[in-house]
Amino acid sequence: MVIAGGGAGGLELAVRLAGQPGIGVFLVDQSPTHIWKPRLHEMAAGARRGMVDEMEYAGLAERWGFVFVQGSLRDIAPDARRIELDAMEDGEGHRVVGERELEYDVLVLAIGGVTPDLGVDGVTEHAFMLDRAEDAEALFSRLSLAALDATVGECRDAMDTVIVGTGLTGVELAAYLATDAQPAALAPRDARPRLRVTLVEAVDEFMPSMGETERRAVRERLEDVGVTIRTGCQISRVAADHVETDEGTRLDSRLTVWATGRVGPPIVDEIDALQANDKRQWRVRKTLQSVDRRDIFALGDCAAVEGSEAPPTAQAASEQANHLARELPRYCAGQAPRAFEYRHKGTLMSLGAAGAVGRLRSGLGHDLQIRGRVAAAAYRGLERQHEMVVLGRVRGSARMFKELFSPQRGPRVKVH
Ligand SMILES: Cc1cc2nc3c(=O)[nH]c(=O)nc-3n(C[C@H](O)[C@H](O)[C@H](O)COP(=O)(O)OP(=O)(O)OC[C@H]3O[C@@H](n4cnc5c(N)ncnc54)[C@H](O)[C@@H]3O)c2cc1C
Repeated sequence: MVIAGGGAGGLELAVRLAGQPGIGVFLVDQSPTHIWKPRLHEMAAGARRGMVDEMEYAGLAERWGFVFVQGSLRDIAPDARRIELDAMEDGEGHRVVGERELEYDVLVLAIGGVTPDLGVDGVTEHAFMLDRAEDAEALFSRLSLAALDATVGECRDAMDTVIVGTGLTGVELAAYLATDAQPAALAPRDARPRLRVTLVEAVDEFMPSMGETERRAVRERLEDVGVTIRTGCQISRVAADHVETDEGTRLDSRLTVWATGRVGPPIVDEIDALQANDKRQWRVRKTLQSVDRRDIFALGDCAAVEGSEAPPTAQAASEQANHLARELPRYCAGQAPRAFEYRHKGTLMSLGAAGAVGRLRSGLGHDLQIRGRVAAAAYRGLERQHEMVVLGRVRGSARMFKELFSPQRGPRVKVH
């Protein structure tokens, strides 16, 4: 069994399947370490990799008994049941590992998603996205240096930051930057310049995917911490120090973050053997099997499940991994896999020092509005669940206790 992508879904699946009789698991990831993506906001605001519980795949492979192969999926040859991995270079561009091939009996694609640039001029050159740990570190590094310049350099003014997109990522990042960011290049803390954060939404509605109650609660909290919200404002160009709207308005921005949703990674379009939708997600049946091949499955952000409303969240990827961990052994034993059914458990958002709000679905199907500590604790619950699967109950609990008694008590932020 080859699993390509060790993120929120793929890693949980590898751990759950490893050690099952008759199944050998190979996990392939382009990176040597795993970071749970919903914590990337914290890294953007200054948390180091160790603080967001980065884990080495090699250690997890030894612990659970799967094989880890570092490499980047480049192509799939379904008739030969083979995947191809890119060559790898060192930091100076020297080719160290050549292209490789890996054979499979069953392939699971779990390579996640990326932010679409929507073809807007200047996004690639000047805007930051939050797709990988390296992106979050680059954003923090720029934030730090620009904050230093805004305090002791030539441009001593509050630092303009524009975040494009009022989905959960944009909103949570805005709250975190406005309340929690601590640039590394500045001390003491009270020397920190105020960030002028503007959140921009193309349609007339703020947070169009949310209900009216949450929308109002989030808006109030963001405005309380000084975030400006502009709706009905389509960005047509991003430059180094400003953005422009399609109506010709110019907004100053020393730091622009592009957070306009999720699509599958570009590699999806380059792999001809499997069909994808217009969001570059592989089309899969309700059983999570590719519409083209029964021995290829896909889950998480890179998959579009027929007739399902599963959103691109860690919650959905984890549910799909859990489902496949039950169904793949049945499939290997010659039985037909059963259909996946997404169960929405709620939406939670933590807004840094501005608090947390959300909605949880009760067992009876009613939605319960929650706020403050209850909402923040519920967010931690989602991450704890991931750690309990990936680290096991003993280590997962040990980590929870360590955090409870450590002076730096983990994220105050968010959830989808
Ligand atoms: C900033 C941010 C905040 C978020 N907050 C929340 C939240 O609060 N709650 C929530 O439920 N969801 C949240 N999400 C969404 C959530 O992180 C994703 O939906 C979830 O991680 C998807 O899981 P996945 O397994 O599909 O992919 P991912 O977790 O993205 O993992 C994909 C893995 O594939 C690897 N990979 C990629 N390309 C290749 C390749 N070519 N070859 C080999 N390996 C490859 C990557 O290195 C990665 O390890 C957030 C996302 C972001 C970016």
